[in-house]
Amino acid sequence: MTSERDLSRNEVVRRCERCETETRHEVRISIERTTDGEDVAPQNEKYARSPSRITVCLACGSETRQRRVQHD
Ligand SMILES: [Zn+2]
Repeated sequence: MTSERDLSRNEVVRRCERCETETRHEVRISIERTTDGEDVAPQNEKYARSPSRITVCLACGSETRQRRVQHD
C-alpha cells in the first residue's frame, strides 16, 4: 500500500491515465526555452524561459507534462 509517509519529497500520488488508478509519480521541474533563443537579448532571456512540471508515473513510466506551473 502507498502511504504519504513513504513518499519522497519529489513524489506525489495522483491518478495515472494509463494505469487507471492512483500511483506514485516523480515530479520534475524543467526550465525550457520557449524560443530557439538565438535572437533573445540578455535582458529578455528570463521571459524566454518557461517552467514545465513533468510527472513520471513510477508504475508504468508514462510522463505527463504541464506547459506552465499553475498559479492558482
Ligand atoms: Zn502509470
